Order: sequence, then structure tokens, then C-alpha cells
Amino acid sequence: VLGLPAIWILRLSHRVGRDFRVTTHLGLVGRAFGAKGMYYSGDKDKEMEKSILRVNERWGGEFKVIYTRQPIKLVNGWREKGVLIHLTMYGLPIDDVISEIRGLNKDILVVVGGAKVPSIYYSLADYNIAITHQPHSEIAALAIFLDRFYKGEQLKFEFSDAKIRVVPCEKGKRLYKGP
Ligand code: SAM
Repeated sequence: VLGLPAIWILRLSHRVGRDFRVTTHLGLVGRAFGAKGMYYSGDKDKEMEKSILRVNERWGGEFKVIYTRQPIKLVNGWREKGVLIHLTMYGLPIDDVISEIRGLNKDILVVVGGAKVPSIYYSLADYNIAITHQPHSEIAALAIFLDRFYKGEQLKFEFSDAKIRVVPCEKGKRLYKGP
């Protein structure tokens, strides 16, 4: 996206039922804000995967959703070629490190947790990054990380193969359907 390195997400410890909306929203935010795809661990959930992929069909893009049974293996493999970011309220303030991370010009895996994040992720991460030092939400943390990384440019991003697009209007809803 926008000539910058690829960003992937790793969502840890997904639970069927309980995390359906949160994990779906992580995927939708990732897709809309320019990430390439999302890995997830925990319970495999075909319905959640479909809920994200259905959006690609109409609104375009090739955002991927990939289940991983071995997230630590994935993370270790990633560290050999790219940067590993872990979003946590205990990390360094995002504004202190985001320029440095952009400057590395390497693909990025952004790890976001679920209920409890095993401590190994804190030590494996190249950067533990905090979006404020208050507890809040993985969706909000991801959105702010992507926004800071892309400097807001992702807000202008369009999907070239969309079957349906919004025609911005002051009131009401307008859609354009076509190539
Ligand atoms: N108590 C959990 C733990 O052991 O870390 C965190 C639960 S929190 C609801 C779920 C995820 O949201 C976290 O793992 C983290 O990725 C993200 N998150 C929440 N607040 C954050 C913050 N202030 N900065 C960065 N990420 C945050």
C-alpha cells in the first residue's frame, strides 16, 4: 500500500462466539486501513473468516485471513525477514518510535492480544508499543498504529477492483455499483 512495506496482523487467542465481533472488526479495520491480511490463533472460526472475506467480494481488495495453530513459530519466522510489533499498554509511546520503524523499511507483523497475552511475546517483539498507557481495545490500538504509520494517507486509499463504492454525500446514502 502507498509504496510502503506490507503490514500483517496477528490476533492472538481468538475464542469462537465471544470474540466474533472484535476479531471481525480487527480484520475490517486492518483491511480498510491498508494492511495485507490477518493471522489469528486460538479457535479456528470459519464464520468469522467468512464475515471478513465477504467484504472483499463487494468492496474490493485481497485482504487475507489465515488461521495459525503455531503463533510463536509464525512470530519467530517473521523476525528473520521483518519487524515484529506488539501493541501493549506497557510498551513505549508510539510517537517515540514510529519514525524509526517507518525508516526500517521492512514488512511488519503487528501482534494484538486477547484476554491474556503470554509473556514471551513481550520478549520476542522488536518493539512493544503503547497507544496511551491506559487499558482499552485491540481494535482502537490497531487503528491508531496504522494511522500513525501511514500518516493518515490510508484514509484516501481506494480498492481498484471494488464492485460497490460510496459516493460521499452530505445527507443520506449513495452507492456507485459498477467497475
Ligand atoms: N490484559 C491483557 C494482557 O494481558 O495484556 C490485555 C487485554 S486488552 C483488552 C487486548 C489487547 O488490546 C492487548 O493485548 C493489546 O494488544 C491491546 N491494547 C489494549 N490497550 C492498549 C494500549 N493502551 N496500547 C496498546 N495496545 C493496547
